[in-house]
Amino acid sequence: MECQKQDNEYIFRRVEEYTEKVAFVEAVTGKSVTYGDVVRNTKRLAKALTSLGLRKGQVMVVVLPNVAEYGIIALGIMSAGGVFSGANPTALVSEIKKQVEASGARGIITDATNYEKVKNLGLPVIVLGEEKIEGAVNWKDLLEAGDKSGDNDKEEILQTDLCALPFSSGTTGLQKGVMLTHRNLIANLCSSLFSVRSDMIGQIVTLGLIPFFHIYGIVGICCATMKNKGKVVAMSRYDLRIFLNAMIAHEVSFAPIVPPIILNLVKNPIVDEFDLSKLKLRSVMTAAAPLAPELLTAFEAKFPNVQVQEAYGLTEHSCITLTHGDPKRGQGIAKRNSVGFILPNLEVKFIDPDTGRSLPKNTSGELCVRSQCVMQGYFKNKEETEKTIDEEGWLHTGDIGYIDDDGDIFIVDRIKELIKYKGFQVAPAELEAILLTHPSVEDVAVVPLPDEEAGEIPVACVVINPKAKEKEEDILNFVAANVAHYKKVRAVHFVDSIPKSLSGKIMRRLLRDKILSMKTK
Ligand code: ATP
Ligand code: MG
Repeated sequence: MECQKQDNEYIFRRVEEYTEKVAFVEAVTGKSVTYGDVVRNTKRLAKALTSLGLRKGQVMVVVLPNVAEYGIIALGIMSAGGVFSGANPTALVSEIKKQVEASGARGIITDATNYEKVKNLGLPVIVLGEEKIEGAVNWKDLLEAGDKSGDNDKEEILQTDLCALPFSSGTTGLQKGVMLTHRNLIANLCSSLFSVRSDMIGQIVTLGLIPFFHIYGIVGICCATMKNKGKVVAMSRYDLRIFLNAMIAHEVSFAPIVPPIILNLVKNPIVDEFDLSKLKLRSVMTAAAPLAPELLTAFEAKFPNVQVQEAYGLTEHSCITLTHGDPKRGQGIAKRNSVGFILPNLEVKFIDPDTGRSLPKNTSGELCVRSQCVMQGYFKNKEETEKTIDEEGWLHTGDIGYIDDDGDIFIVDRIKELIKYKGFQVAPAELEAILLTHPSVEDVAVVPLPDEEAGEIPVACVVINPKAKEKEEDILNFVAANVAHYKKVRAVHFVDSIPKSLSGKIMRRLLRDKILSMKTK
């Protein structure tokens, strides 16, 4: 591993050759920052935060959409020795308050739009932009204060020091604060960027749509692109027309996205308004949730010049864990529908979740991973930490999958989301993939409902094309014709939309609770 102590030292290596190059540009406003700005303002911010009293290991919560300054803010906090904790700016005040309190934050960085949400949380607030707000610290004033303060107060930062406290997505329960060190992030970048060709350095234009508060956004997009001296096209929200316009106008070449965006690109007729031959897009990475095989096929048919690379990762592993691309076999040739290979410097095993015994190839079990990327633990949550990282240092991911004879890895589903029908396990992802092949199904989520006889039954929540004639029975029969008897969907609810988190996950608990509450009314 390269031996820089901090992420910014690692990321900024050779940055002097790129000072004029744009590092971040906002897709809609066109506001941009160069690599020179990033390096200079990261240092200014770090000095200013130190002079304001931020000490090693103290948390700053950042409540911002994907703005051009995001990389500066995250790296500035980290290089002051602080701990960057990104929060979802679209979250409710009560949710942001929870993150601020749970992380013991010492300050907040936000913008004028989100100031109202954080102004009463009892912490100093720094507000991005020109506007001066009474009671808040203005961004420009802060950076200027940084120019005047010395480096004297800064403590030595070690690779083993914490630098980030992202929160897991909260898909299966409460969100958990994940403690990551400089070494964790550097290790993840070293492992995930191994296959980037040297002639691509400075060439890649990355779509910055995934929220930067999420690990996929901050490490997989911001840090990875900065390390390669590429350009991030930052989008503060998703709208299909704005998205496609930005992809064309900014000549995006690499788009890290999530399955719901692929679904939208495949099924939404708005896409047909665009001349797709104008796209400079060469590759798409999809991660964060299972990608249905038919969706991949449909996407490839619509975007024949784009290579799709699936990847798998989790907050507790500092981002990417498995991806297409192998040192021996080259980039992008993992099998279709696999999430790829084990990254360099990682160990992986699949275990029987009941006995903990390691399983042979081609046998499904819980994916466990051990590497320098594994988190230090959940913040102030020893019990969950001990359940997740065992004494030998293996991170138990909670995901079921298998490795085949060639080293390709396939993810089946999450253990917690498997539906237990009469003792059989049914993976909602498999049923959703089948339902998406139905021409009238626009989107779908399969959820478990309690059932006296079977324990649980799989129920499909379906967004149906408004012109479709199919009734519940047609949908049930369609699935039944394609699966073993125990996997059949037992009921269908027609819904207007499927709730998904900004990080691309189906919020099954919400749907299930909604159906249950309808039933009790
Ligand atoms: P929480 O742990 O709070 O319930 P979460 O697990 O959704 O939330 P993240 O760390 O954002 O929080 O997501 C990691 C999870 O996303 C993985 O454990 C896995 O279940 C899922 N995931 C990531 N990539 C893929 C993929 N390519 N295919 C299937 N699932 C994936
Ligand atoms: Mg998780």
